[in-house]
Amino acid sequence: LVDIQGLSRDFGAAPVLDRISLAIQPGEFVALLGRSGSGKSTLLRVLAGLDEAPAARVVLPKRRSIVFQEPRLMPWKSVADNVALGVSNAHASGAVSRALADVELTHRRDAWPLTLSGGEAQRAALARALVREPELLLLDEPFAALDALTRLRMQGLVRELWRKHRPAVLLVTHDVGEAVALADRILVLDRGRFRREVAVELPHPRRHGDPCAAALETEL
Ligand code: ATP
Ligand code: MG
Repeated sequence: LVDIQGLSRDFGAAPVLDRISLAIQPGEFVALLGRSGSGKSTLLRVLAGLDEAPAARVVLPKRRSIVFQEPRLMPWKSVADNVALGVSNAHASGAVSRALADVELTHRRDAWPLTLSGGEAQRAALARALVREPELLLLDEPFAALDALTRLRMQGLVRELWRKHRPAVLLVTHDVGEAVALADRILVLDRGRFRREVAVELPHPRRHGDPCAAALETEL
């Protein structure tokens, strides 16, 4: 689904991404870890098509959407109208309703974004991404600004949505536990390259105290 080879990006100084390669299979859930400034958001912006970078090979699905750390909703549009921005078809009201139901936000469909809680706003942003039925869902620290309980709920929701719709997911996070709990595979970005790749094989309930999580913690 995703096949990137030799992709580089710099902003004048040392390369932020240094000839990296990345392959993601359909339906795969990949987490991306790395220190602040290691280039995670830069990579996601390139994958989303919001930034350009030279590469030897770039294969990406057409339908892909990104969710940022902040919801970035249009304050002058209702929640439903914000979600409708994800689809071009003016007759997409069915798709909007389904996406809102998926994120448990049907009751807030006519609300103004400024009246939403942080978790609700982020769920609206997720619905705006889901309404496109993405084959690749790019999540850039989508839970980082939320309180611990809301974050847990959002993690469960994303996991459920992934099970239901099976998009490939690339999730950027600083939370090793979150990466281990949600992803099939974890990548660590460091000084422009992928330094480590970990396959997560333990079933979900056993992942607490996972030695691979401990190893990643010491590395970050
Ligand atoms: P964080 O975990 O803090 O979100 P990150 O891994 O997402 O960090 P990036 O936002 O990708 O890091 O930034 C990587 C590096 O590229 C940083 O040094 C940043 O200052 C630089 N950078 C990113 N975008 C630009 C830009 N538009 N112009 C100049 N420098 C940039
Ligand atoms: Mg970032």
